[in-house]
Amino acid sequence: MSADTPRNNFIRELVAADVETGRFGRPVTTRFPPEPNGFLHIGHAKSICLNFGLAVEFGGRVNLRFDDTNPFTEDMKYVEAIRKDVAWLGYTWNEERYASDYFEQLYEIAETLVSNGKAYVDSQSEEGIRAGRGTVTSPGTPSPNRNRTASENLDLLRRMRAGEFPDGAHVLRARIDMAHPNMIMRDPLLLRIRHASHYRLGDKWCIYPLYDFAHGLSDAIEGITRSLCTLEFKDNRDIYEWLVREAGFENPPTQIEFARLELDYTVVSKRKLLRLVNEGHVTGWDDPRMPTLAGLRRRGVTPDAIRAFADTIGVARKPARVELATFEHAIRDDLNMRVRRVMCVVNPIRIVLTNYPEGQVEELEAPYYPHDVPLTGSRSVPFSRELYIERDDFMEEPPKKFFRLAPGREVRLRYGYLITCQSVVKNDAGEVVELHCTYDPATRGGDAPDGRKVQGTIHWVSAARGVHCEVRLYDKLFSVPDPEMDGDDGDFTSHLNPDSLKVVSGAYVEESVVKDAPGSAYQFERTGYFVNDVIDSAPGHPVFNRTVTLRDSWAKTK
Ligand code: ATP
Ligand code: MG
Repeated sequence: MSADTPRNNFIRELVAADVETGRFGRPVTTRFPPEPNGFLHIGHAKSICLNFGLAVEFGGRVNLRFDDTNPFTEDMKYVEAIRKDVAWLGYTWNEERYASDYFEQLYEIAETLVSNGKAYVDSQSEEGIRAGRGTVTSPGTPSPNRNRTASENLDLLRRMRAGEFPDGAHVLRARIDMAHPNMIMRDPLLLRIRHASHYRLGDKWCIYPLYDFAHGLSDAIEGITRSLCTLEFKDNRDIYEWLVREAGFENPPTQIEFARLELDYTVVSKRKLLRLVNEGHVTGWDDPRMPTLAGLRRRGVTPDAIRAFADTIGVARKPARVELATFEHAIRDDLNMRVRRVMCVVNPIRIVLTNYPEGQVEELEAPYYPHDVPLTGSRSVPFSRELYIERDDFMEEPPKKFFRLAPGREVRLRYGYLITCQSVVKNDAGEVVELHCTYDPATRGGDAPDGRKVQGTIHWVSAARGVHCEVRLYDKLFSVPDPEMDGDDGDFTSHLNPDSLKVVSGAYVEESVVKDAPGSAYQFERTGYFVNDVIDSAPGHPVFNRTVTLRDSWAKTK
């Protein structure tokens, strides 16, 4: 399904009703609000497709807003990566905004709340505040500072801003209800002191808003209509609504929650992905095993595949893990008709065609498939006396149903000739190192004039003209479907798959691909989908990343 015929979901229905009734008195306005503390991952893609998709469909607006309220973790390099990844997914934002641009406005709202008796400065320790919150079954205890006068609070707030106090000396809290059934509403923290340099604003501020204070009000400032977030924020909806109301916004945005994407065999949390990077479990945020958009791009996954995947999984209220097979299906489905099929021998064994003239090379016409995109016509594939075939395509003592090469058996070389294995050459260890075969000169193109049946067709590369290359066989990053299954008691890194990358340095690919730009993608016939690595390929020595195998071999062996 394409972006112009979006699948329906409960959020889309609500938004359609907003448009119908003119509920907000302004166009549909959404935002994608990442914190610039890491690279975007496949979970974010779900949120991007949803927010941008609605704005596009309903002729509305969508902002890319950096929710940058934590000076300890944020960085410009993440802002740049996020911009690049959203654009790569194929979306254009109306405005680029920063929560940090609203700090002054948030501060003014804080003063208003204080003046209205709706917020107070609390000077308890962090532990004191936590203890005073009570529990789900028992009400909290009011802070001894809860009854400070408005002028006392205003004075303290101004001095907090002026930098008179160290970190942790005071916080600004909303004055709501210490017995509220929703614990978040028991006088939540709004501002805290942090003498830290912010990546954009430097030392301009030493008080920073907490998520709840910044998020809903930033939405309101931007005129967002529906604020879409994941289910963990369900309980935050009350404070969201309280704040936008107390701050006096007309037709304020409302929050709707949906289930976050959880994908089997990986983790989708920037904090956890950052650990993988920092601890060297992967080569970086763009390691092709990472579920980041940068990693998926380098792996050879296209934006179309990711958008089709987001569309397939849909948007629901109920959390559910998505099987890796669903994602891989979207990837294959997208690449199938998009990329050229070419030949690469990953694990080669040499064959010598003993009756083929030495020094002779024939240029065989090999039609491209798919025929329509992106290349039409054909390329020439050199055929010579010495060739490589896949080691797995030969068996010395084959079972009955093995239709590939074996002593005395005949097989078809794709686009080429029928060949018959006459003898094997072994080394001192008894391993087969070379096969001596004969070819039938009457079978060029693969058909025998006498009509004899040859079942097997295998791929091959000319030993003389094939290009030596490196092939990186990527597999699942974790060896269990839910790496976080042990919760906080365990360490998700203990479930990393030790075989998530197998590097094959001695592969050979047909020479037709050697001039292609890095990033070019192929189906290596009978092997899988691959992409020329944009970072490590060198001229004349390509490196290929396996994007995905040809079919889901995992589901079968499970
Ligand atoms: P992370 O734990 O990876 O940092 P986050 O929610 O803290 O996730 P943000 O950068 O704050 O990350 O999120 C930006 C937006 O993306 C939010 O609206 C968030 O709800 C959404 N989002 C993040 N992870 C997912 C996910 N797995 N599925 C769907 N949406 C997500
Ligand atoms: Mg976050």
